Amino acid sequence: MGDLDRRLLMERSVPGRRAVAVPAPDVPLSELPPAEMLRDDLSLPEVTEGEVVRYFSLLSQLNFSVDTQYYPLGSCTMKYNPKLNDEMASLPGLADIHPLQPDETVQGALRIIYELQEMLGDITGLPAVSVGPLAGAQGEFAGLLIARAYHGERGEGETRTCALIPDSAHGTNPASAAMAGLEVVTVPSDEHGNVSVDHLRELANERTCVFMLTIPNTVGLFEPNILEVTKIVHDAGGLVYADGANLNALLGLARLGDLGFDIAHSNLHKTFSTPHGGGGPGSGPVLVTDELADFLPDPVVAREGEAYSLVAPAKTIGRLNGFAGSFGIVVRAYTYIRLMGLEGIKAISRNAIINANYIQSQLCDSFDIAYDRYCMHETVMSARRQKSESGVSALDVAKRLIDYGIHPPTMYFPLIVPEALMIEPTETESKETLDAFIAVMKQIALEATSDPELLHSAPHNAANTRLDEATAARKPVLRWYPEEP
Ligand SMILES: *Cc1c(COP(=O)(O)O)cnc(C)c1O
Repeated sequence: MGDLDRRLLMERSVPGRRAVAVPAPDVPLSELPPAEMLRDDLSLPEVTEGEVVRYFSLLSQLNFSVDTQYYPLGSCTMKYNPKLNDEMASLPGLADIHPLQPDETVQGALRIIYELQEMLGDITGLPAVSVGPLAGAQGEFAGLLIARAYHGERGEGETRTCALIPDSAHGTNPASAAMAGLEVVTVPSDEHGNVSVDHLRELANERTCVFMLTIPNTVGLFEPNILEVTKIVHDAGGLVYADGANLNALLGLARLGDLGFDIAHSNLHKTFSTPHGGGGPGSGPVLVTDELADFLPDPVVAREGEAYSLVAPAKTIGRLNGFAGSFGIVVRAYTYIRLMGLEGIKAISRNAIINANYIQSQLCDSFDIAYDRYCMHETVMSARRQKSESGVSALDVAKRLIDYGIHPPTMYFPLIVPEALMIEPTETESKETLDAFIAVMKQIALEATSDPELLHSAPHNAANTRLDEATAARKPVLRWYPEEP
């Protein structure tokens, strides 16, 4: 990219330069607001249109994205987002409607939500669905409030206040449980990366509200004892919650409801190919058994004959947001599932699984594998060998990948794997891309031995090198200040 002009827009400002030419008004001028409501000075950049375009185009090129490069970020399912999804979401009949329009004027939009509820119910075996939650974490929060409401109705709300959560869980799980007023009790994993069934049997009791489990679990493995696990919790009177943020390994192959789960959420912005990252809109529908349907968040879409309407379930936990969910994301996921069909859905998971196992099998000599068995849609590797032999950490490996134009895998998660590198290739990558990634990872493993310093100081050809993330989080500089005179 050559030497970038790193000046901010304010720093490019030259008094008198303009990006727009405003024509002389052909309507009477109106009065200015009262003087005390006016600012004397508003420092805006004074730049030409060409400079504005160049500045923002350059900024956009500093971004890493699935549309530009390979992005094997574990637990995030950075798959290709088909542009057809965006086209459908942009249709004027869908993009230009208002959420407060009367139901009878937006029947098509309500039908899309209804049919997505049905399709997600079919895919997961949890037939009652609300697409209200705006993110995976909000879906978790909704699901946990449903579990609390269920026990409350049975007169056990005061006693069933514990959430059992595996030590490998995604950080949002204990956070959501705490938000829902539950006490978190950690369930250890066994040496194969599964939930320790013996510990679970000891911990599940009359205080158990819910057991939250990610499936496949966060080390990318299928729980072989899942039926026993869900039975232990049910026998103790608790409910079982599936963190189905990533369903990329299960589509058409296994259904959460059949495995004994009562409640789940799923991220449309992972499995169902809607864009994510950068804090954009998400969607984390919450899914439950028929028995729990009345507790779903308000609203869900109901159908009577050919008429669709937004309704509040009878014992709803309440509203999670102003309207019916992230509608644009719903349309994208709907388009994707309709396009794929049932056979296509199965192919997604089969390819996601074989791609992850291919990478694992090719890299197992260069890096340690956290658990030596077939993985599902992602594989957790470890740089612990590099760390002890040459001081090269998972962070160093990740930063070096940037030099090769590849987005780093997820690092240091799950917490139970030291120097974790969690790689999720997704099904949308070609064998050539996987082979190129494998070659780069092998090269980095060689560099770790031959030239550790090269890795400690990576990345070498990115626009930024290592950022001080702790200071950036604690003392963020969110705006431009003029230099002190
Ligand atoms: C991404 C993810 C979540 C949280 O989803 P958000 O939309 O980021 O809130 C929860 N659990 C797992 C396993 C995830 O991968």
